[in-house]
Amino acid sequence: MTKVLIAEDNADSREILSLELEAEGYAVRAVSDGLSAVEAAADFRPDVIVMDISLPTLDGLEATRRIKAQPGFANTPVIALTAHAMTEDEARFRAAGCDYYLAKPASPEAVLKVISRFLPPSAPDLPPGA
Ligand code: MN
Repeated sequence: MTKVLIAEDNADSREILSLELEAEGYAVRAVSDGLSAVEAAADFRPDVIVMDISLPTLDGLEATRRIKAQPGFANTPVIALTAHAMTEDEARFRAAGCDYYLAKPASPEAVLKVISRFLPPSAPDLPPGA
């Protein structure tokens, strides 16, 4: 099962997105601040991370930098959620290790679409004998 870590400090957004992703067949861990995101990444080993940029303790960019610096996370997709959808920020997001960003408010459907672009809910079964 594909694992998604969600870091979002808005409780309603976090809960709605978690439920939608679980309904689609993803395994979800959700946290509400940046330091917890770094810790949860090491513990949960997500396949993809949805990262709010504006977070307590560590902002989403610093949390992304720290996660991507951990062994095994260099290629883990990080999808940033940002209220600051200014084009000049994209370079900052990419420099921090974010692979994609969505402007808030982003619907769960929009987030799902981007996640599935990187990773399906589960890997297809191998054919017999493969
Ligand atoms: Mn926030």
